[in-house]
Amino acid sequence: MEYVLIAIAILVVALLAGVSLLVARGRRTTRLDEDAATGTTLTRPRPPEAREPSGATTSGLAVPPDVADQVQPDTVQPEPAPDVELPPAEPEPAPAFETPPPSAGRLVRLRSRLARSQSSLGRGLLTVLAREKLTEEDWEEVEETLLAADVGITATTQIVERLRTQSMVLATASGRQLRELLVRELTAVLGPELDRSLATDRHDGLPGVVLVVGVNGAGKTTTVGKIARVLVGDGKSVVLGAADTFRAAAADQLETWGERVGVLTVRGREGGDPASVAFEAVRTGTEGEVDTVVVDTAGRLHTKAGLMDELGKIKRVVEKLAPVTETLLVLDATTGQNGVVQARVFTEAVAVTGVVLTKLDGTAKGGIVISVQRELGIPVKLVGLGEGPDDLAPFEPEAFAEALVGSGD
Ligand code: GDP
Repeated sequence: MEYVLIAIAILVVALLAGVSLLVARGRRTTRLDEDAATGTTLTRPRPPEAREPSGATTSGLAVPPDVADQVQPDTVQPEPAPDVELPPAEPEPAPAFETPPPSAGRLVRLRSRLARSQSSLGRGLLTVLAREKLTEEDWEEVEETLLAADVGITATTQIVERLRTQSMVLATASGRQLRELLVRELTAVLGPELDRSLATDRHDGLPGVVLVVGVNGAGKTTTVGKIARVLVGDGKSVVLGAADTFRAAAADQLETWGERVGVLTVRGREGGDPASVAFEAVRTGTEGEVDTVVVDTAGRLHTKAGLMDELGKIKRVVEKLAPVTETLLVLDATTGQNGVVQARVFTEAVAVTGVVLTKLDGTAKGGIVISVQRELGIPVKLVGLGEGPDDLAPFEPEAFAEALVGSGD
C-alpha cells in the first residue's frame, strides 16, 4: 500500500512538471507571434547594432523559431536538473557569407543556358540561309522561324528585309560569314544603343532605390534576391525591403537570399501595408548609408486601379526619403505575348525604367526580348537564365544575339 501511494505521488509530480513546461512553451510562442504582429521586422544577417529603427524589431540571425525561443530575454526557462552541467556559453561564430561573382561577363558565362533552348532558331535560320539560291518559300521559312521564336512582326520584317538586300553577299558567304551576318542583324534589332545601366548608386547622400514590380510567379522575389547578389558581387552594400506582404513566403524567401550574402532585410507582418515596409527599408538604408535599397512588391493584378494605387503609394511614400532611381518590371519569358499584355498594365501604373526577363533558360522563344523591348519601349536590362542564385545577367545585345544564333553546328 505504501508503495502504491509513493508511485501515485511520483506520477502526480511528473504530470505537474509536464503541464508547467507546456504552459511556459505556449507563452513563449505567443510572445513571438505578438512581436511579429507589431509591424516591421528587421532581419540582420550580422549581430544587431545599437541603433534600431523605431517601431521595428530585430529578429537577429534567422534562427529556427525554437532556437529564437530560447533567446527571448524574459521567457520562462526550465530549471536545469542539479546534476546536469551546462556547457560554458560559447561566443557565436561569425556567420560566413557567400561572395557572389561580379556581374561583368555573366551573360557570356551563362550563354550555354540560352543556346541549349534556342538552338532551333539559329540552326533553322542558318540552314535556310545556306541554301544556294534563296526562293520566296525560303524567305517565308526565315520569316516563320523568326516569328516562331517570338521575335515579333515588326522586327521580323526588318530582319528579313535587311537580309534580302544582302542576298548577293549571302549567295557566296561561308557558314562562318553567314553566322556573323545573322548575329549582326539580330544585334541591330536588339537595340544596342539603348541605355541598360542600372541606376543603383548612391547620389546626393542617398542610396539608390530600386522598385521591383511584376505579376506573381514571374520570378520577382527570386530576382530581387539575385539582384542583391549582383550588387554585393560588384562590391555594393544593400538593404532589401520585403514589401510583398500578401505572401508570407515571399518575405521568408527574401530573408534567406539576404542572409546568404550578408544583406539586411526589412519585412512587415503578413497583410500589412506594403508602403510602410518599403518606407522602413529605405529609411534603414538611408540611415545605414548603404549604396542600394531593393524593394520587392506584391504582384496582385486585381484591378488596374488597385495596382496603380498600391504601386503609386509605395513610390510616393518612399520618395519622402529618397527618389526611386530604378523601377524594374519582371517578366516571365515563357509566357510570351501574354506576358507583354500583362506588362502593359504595370507600365501604365508606374514609370518602368527597365525590364528583367526571367526563365529564358526555359523557352525556345528568345526573340521575346526583341518584341518586349519594341512593344513596351523599355530596354531589357537583366535576364534570368536559371534557378541558381547567380543565374541573372546584365543584358548584352551582341552576346545575346550570339547565343540565339548558336554555334552553327
Ligand atoms: P514571384 O511570385 O514573382 O515573386 O516569383 P518567385 O520569385 O517566387 O519565382 C517563381 C519561380 O520561378 C521559382 O520557382 C523560381 O525559382 C523560378 N524562377 C525565377 N527566375 C527563374 C529563371 O530565370 N529561370 C528559371 N528556370 N526559373 C526561375
